[in-house]
Amino acid sequence: MDDELREKQKIVEETIDKYVKYVSPGLARLFRFANFSTVEWRGEGALVFDIYGEAYIDCIGGFGSFPVGRNHPRVVQKVKEQLDRLPLSTRTLFNKQQADLAEMLAQVTPGDLQYSFFGNSGAEAVEGAIKLARFYTGRKKLVSAINSFHGKTMGALSVSGRDVYKKPFEPLVPETYQVPFDDIEALEEVVDEKTAAVILEPIQGEGGINIPHPHYLSRVKEICEQNGALLILDEVQTGLGRTGKMFACEHYEVAPHIMTLAKGLGGGVLPIGAFISTEEIWKVFEDNPLIHSSTLGGNPLACTAGLETLKVLQEENIPAQAEEKGNYWMEELRFLQEKFPDLVKEVRGIGLLIGMEFFDSDVASLLAAEMAERKVLVAYTLNNPRVIRLEPPLTIKKEEIEKVTKALGKSLDKVRETLKEIGG
Ligand code: PLP
Repeated sequence: MDDELREKQKIVEETIDKYVKYVSPGLARLFRFANFSTVEWRGEGALVFDIYGEAYIDCIGGFGSFPVGRNHPRVVQKVKEQLDRLPLSTRTLFNKQQADLAEMLAQVTPGDLQYSFFGNSGAEAVEGAIKLARFYTGRKKLVSAINSFHGKTMGALSVSGRDVYKKPFEPLVPETYQVPFDDIEALEEVVDEKTAAVILEPIQGEGGINIPHPHYLSRVKEICEQNGALLILDEVQTGLGRTGKMFACEHYEVAPHIMTLAKGLGGGVLPIGAFISTEEIWKVFEDNPLIHSSTLGGNPLACTAGLETLKVLQEENIPAQAEEKGNYWMEELRFLQEKFPDLVKEVRGIGLLIGMEFFDSDVASLLAAEMAERKVLVAYTLNNPRVIRLEPPLTIKKEEIEKVTKALGKSLDKVRETLKEIGG
């Protein structure tokens, strides 16, 4: 064994050991169980290379954080230039990068969404959105969906829909109610003149890639407006081209009163989150513009990444690419479903937000480990462990999609064998 290889092995061992000792022993166990026992080192397009130079096709994709692929040269270049000049803001002088990004978001978002506030994550964007809804309406009640995922800070967790993440932290924010997703009657029963907002993902991501009926969101908006409540659409995972349109709500021709974005907005290079609303709603911030603030949110570096990402998305026509690749892939995956009817319950998706649901969650976890063996990264959705998500960078190549499909076929064969061996 040469010295270089020995050195790399040492780094891997030490990194895992430090996770066990200083980061999270539980997480280290989870990664090892899924066969993710290497150290990530470099990224390009849809690929992540580990420290040994081994390429993995990344179908987890930071849960939707790579709309323009990893290390898109234009985004990286702009960020490098900004890094050398002014990475962080004074917070007292006008900042051009923030202004430019807010302007472009006003241009690309649907309806009359116009003003943006920037934070650093999806959960922060959701916190801001629900504060704005309460402030504007003067009401407290928040309605969301069972199995939804909006983040893990207290407010975002309160409107999220899976008890396992919530119970240990109760009492959470009061007057939050969850109803089944895509069930208009259930929603109608709960939304009333005390409701500040309904918050929904247009398509549930962590809930297991759940696509509502075509008229669901427009009915939800009507019900909100009849009751003087706001509709917040959380596009943190579905936004920025992922579903084949710039925003998933465009499939349903529904513009929310408030939209949240994060993940992909940083172009896979920097963290940034945003909530965006209309001129009318934003008026409540006028008297005290510092009533909601963030020291590092909306920093010039992250805004530079955001602006260039939006330009690349438009100029390279990435949403349309996602649609086309997604349609092709779904067909291939349905063949797999036919080949493994004992394991695969359903394949569903839109654009490059695809879920494969299995009859048993064991299949999903065994499959993830088998796929890692074949150098493809997949993972189950947080609120539904029976569903494996396929959510790669939108720039994934057709050959890479084919490789993933082949690896899925081989891995499912292997999972079937394993289950037979253990009598499953
Ligand atoms: N909203 C949605 C729809 C999400 O999918 C997520 C994360 O997966 C969040 C909010 C929270 O984002 P973050 O992890 O950046 O706080």
